Amino acid sequence: MPELSEVETFKRYFDATSLHQRIVDVDVRSAYLLKGISGRKLARYLKGRQFESSRRHGKHLFARAHDEIWLRLHFGMTGSLHYFKDEERVPSHTRVLFVFAKNRRLAFDDQRKFGEVGLVKDVDEFLTNRGLGPDALDVDLAQFKNILAKHHGAVKSILLNQKLIAGIGNIYADEILFRARIHPATKAARLSENKMKRLFRAMRYILKNAIESKADVGVLPRSWLLPHRGTRGKCPRCGRELKSTTIGGRSTWFCTHCQKRASGGRLPA
Ligand SMILES: [Zn+2]
Repeated sequence: MPELSEVETFKRYFDATSLHQRIVDVDVRSAYLLKGISGRKLARYLKGRQFESSRRHGKHLFARAHDEIWLRLHFGMTGSLHYFKDEERVPSHTRVLFVFAKNRRLAFDDQRKFGEVGLVKDVDEFLTNRGLGPDALDVDLAQFKNILAKHHGAVKSILLNQKLIAGIGNIYADEILFRARIHPATKAARLSENKMKRLFRAMRYILKNAIESKADVGVLPRSWLLPHRGTRGKCPRCGRELKSTTIGGRSTWFCTHCQKRASGGRLPA
């Protein structure tokens, strides 16, 4: 599922391929993904314009086509972007196709159709209306500590809550907690000052490095949790078998040895 690092990778890909080209057509092949707009209207707003810049917030990507027109993309579970020239190279699950001058095309491909495509007038207003928290890479340590200290759930649930911090999904929440050596079920509000700092640094480290790797699991370091996640997977740090549990309805992988659950008695009151 595309999380912050994947969406940042799509942003860079979009910037490198699709800016400053006249949009000659928008071919909506599945209106199911359109949110708050018809295919005809989407095409009418975008035709003749060009994408001038883009902006990512959490798992959303916005592309500016005019002062008051931003294309909004959310990649759902299987969304991705593909830029190409020849018609026959159109990906098989293309839902919306942006056709540029000189026959260049950008496909929004999404097999499972949980993605969203729409237009917004004002990105900040949209983010406020959606109640989205600050982007995970824009949060500073003080803000981060404040978010953790004010909420009582499991630390993993806090990291996943888009209304508190936007951009972290299930896979990278586990990775961040693994790096910080914090048990995912630890109550966020009970984390020591030191652990909060460690978690903050781990969050930035993991997200930035995942972006550097273009969110390609195949090139992530073997010392990360991701290449080992799953049944019979072994902890890359201590070699013990990884455990899984469900937190906030999401499957969670961790190492019980490296991510010990602090017992209530040892924590200051
Ligand atoms: Zn371990």
